Amino acid sequence: MGGQVAIDVCAGCQAFWFDHFESLKLSPGSTLKLMKFIGEHPSSAKPSPPGTMQCPRCATTLKLAHDLQGNMPFTYWRCATDDGHFIAFLEFLKEKNFIHRLTPGQIQELRQNVQFVNCSSCGASINLETDSACPYCHAPITMLDMKQPQLMLEQLRRAAEPKPLDPTLPLKVASAKMALETSLADYDRGTEWWSNASCFGLVGAGLTVVARWLSDKLVD
Ligand SMILES: [Zn+2]
Ligand SMILES: [Zn+2]
Repeated sequence: MGGQVAIDVCAGCQAFWFDHFESLKLSPGSTLKLMKFIGEHPSSAKPSPPGTMQCPRCATTLKLAHDLQGNMPFTYWRCATDDGHFIAFLEFLKEKNFIHRLTPGQIQELRQNVQFVNCSSCGASINLETDSACPYCHAPITMLDMKQPQLMLEQLRRAAEPKPLDPTLPLKVASAKMALETSLADYDRGTEWWSNASCFGLVGAGLTVVARWLSDKLVD
């Protein structure tokens, strides 16, 4: 908030490196920008991090850390001397409270539309006829909360009046109609959405939609 933050990103590893506690200081605009980046760099195969990783700053071995966002566990790799942390895209989205478990009702609804979805955690195919969690990594079936980016954008829009709060990410305020006239819900559930869901998982499908939706709303 208020300052500049440099974030290292690797689309191949599907992960970010944040120096110190940069992640905590992200403005809504920066968070949306990272979300857009993630959506624009989908990967059907989930790269697993190597067994040991070294801190890019002090070269000590990074330690796996477990944390909770509400009831959603997430993990990251942290430097013991607090140089920073390495966090996978999906874990970052969990940390920011963008990822929710499907309710039994939502799983039922999903079943009526597709038989297979990709596990958002490990990339394995989940047969919805028989499974309501990933049979391989046991992760619950999760999806992107489509309301969250809308709320953040609304927050940004308010903050942009009368002048932009976040100069690195000016909104296309000129189009005042950017008020949520195109609701994310309208994009949901197209044919393309279902094919993305079976290929990239529900989170990936949601991200593709959100990235496209955001690209009309945010200046690059
Ligand atoms: Zn270090
Ligand atoms: Zn899995």
